[in-house]
Amino acid sequence: MTDYDYDLFVIGGGSGGVRAARIAATHGARVGIAEEYRYGGTCVIRGCVPKKLFVYASKFSEEFEDAEGFGWSVGERNFSWQKLVAAKDQEITRLEGIYRRNLERTDVEAHDSRAVVEDAHTVRLLSTGQQITAKYILIAVGASPNLDHSVAGVEHVITSNEAFNMAELPDRILVAGGGYIAVEFAGIFNGMGVDTTLIYRGEEILRGFDADLRTAVRQEMEKKGIKVILGEVFSKIEKTGEGTLIGHTTSGRALEADQIMYAIGRNPHTKDLGLEKAGVELADNGSIKVSADSRTSVESIYAVGDVTDRAALTPVAIREGHAFADTVFGNKPWTVDHSLIPTAVFSQPEMGTVGLTQDEALKKTPNLDIYKSSFRPMKHTLSGRDEKMLMKMIVDADTQKVLGVHVLGPDAGELAQVLGIALQMGATKADFDKTIAVHPTAAEELVTMREPTEQLRG
Ligand code: NDP
Repeated sequence: MTDYDYDLFVIGGGSGGVRAARIAATHGARVGIAEEYRYGGTCVIRGCVPKKLFVYASKFSEEFEDAEGFGWSVGERNFSWQKLVAAKDQEITRLEGIYRRNLERTDVEAHDSRAVVEDAHTVRLLSTGQQITAKYILIAVGASPNLDHSVAGVEHVITSNEAFNMAELPDRILVAGGGYIAVEFAGIFNGMGVDTTLIYRGEEILRGFDADLRTAVRQEMEKKGIKVILGEVFSKIEKTGEGTLIGHTTSGRALEADQIMYAIGRNPHTKDLGLEKAGVELADNGSIKVSADSRTSVESIYAVGDVTDRAALTPVAIREGHAFADTVFGNKPWTVDHSLIPTAVFSQPEMGTVGLTQDEALKKTPNLDIYKSSFRPMKHTLSGRDEKMLMKMIVDADTQKVLGVHVLGPDAGELAQVLGIALQMGATKADFDKTIAVHPTAAEELVTMREPTEQLRG
């Protein structure tokens, strides 16, 4: 390995790249890493972490209202967007520092530069022009927000990147898209008092999630004041003389707002990275094609995380990076199982889910028992808030194996994590039934749903 400057050079200092670099280094590899923006990547700098902080911030408006049902008189309330952004910036700077220190601690050499691939064993740092050789190269450059450039005036919109640092909180916002980011940001803005409209092209938001939860979460969002427009997209964005924006829709609506945010998916960040020149095969959407062990079409080049378009989730990227480093440098080969990924949408109310949706389960097995429970969370008996929690369990009627659990309501993300363990272990409905309830909790519903609400046969 001594012929090369490094044993491993990682391009991209996000979750997947940093994990791979550190683990490879702990296995004794000489590792270099390059990041063009800030260490921590999308999740830490302009994704999961600041998003969750904003979700917390936005929920206080309801908390203040709910407190009155418990005897509190809450005085005048004021929200400062600028204070929140400053506090968020401080926190992500702290986290970025931790990422850098962790790299230093494992003797990974960090380069603050964009790096591109020159050939199977060479990268070039654009800041200095320096060429660096490595036995292995790992691409972990993530993805960036997509825009629909066929829409005239789309240059006036923002994406989640800019939403985190807007100078002012707008009075009115239009959010385009119906996936994780659109739904989460719609909740954030609405909670902060912004007049919020979500516009989505399909029949129901959050495609890919269980149908009952999709409908329920949309209804709850509407109850909170978010206007949801389905079956439409923007056809044109117009900037008025006063600086406001008008989003013209395919059905002829003209929606006026102070900001329009697009959240219509993310594109792998592979443009101008030198991959084609090096012979790395890309898919039509620009993502890097990889084998189960994250190897690209070039033997010495691997790729992990969102750039590979497997499951665009931070914990998955971390796993992929770890598996790569253990396999290539630690003599401990393993691959990531992408089949059972617990996930949460930090919508308001929150969604937590693991395993198959009812539609997916029906494609695999004809006989299903569905257990469904919809109830008012205890907190709202006194708060008076009209909000329902929904839990749904999908069970293979023949084997009694639990195939999927879907939760809508407070702390659903926390539940999904623990439910993930149970499903990973192959839990049956009987395993849930023999588990003693924790009382009084909402989660106890998961172990007390006795009779199926629906039995699907054949
Ligand atoms: P998603 O893939 O979740 O959603 C994209 C949305 O945009 C879909 O509703 C899609 O519609 C719609 N869309 C796509 N193209 C167009 C178009 N041309 N015009 C109008 N609408 C369009 O992407 P996000 O951007 O929300 O998030 C990116 C990824 O980041 C997610 O997939 C997720 O993996 C990850 N993420 C995870 C989070 C979490 O774990 N909590 C939080 C945020 C992001 P359709 O469904 O019809 O295709």
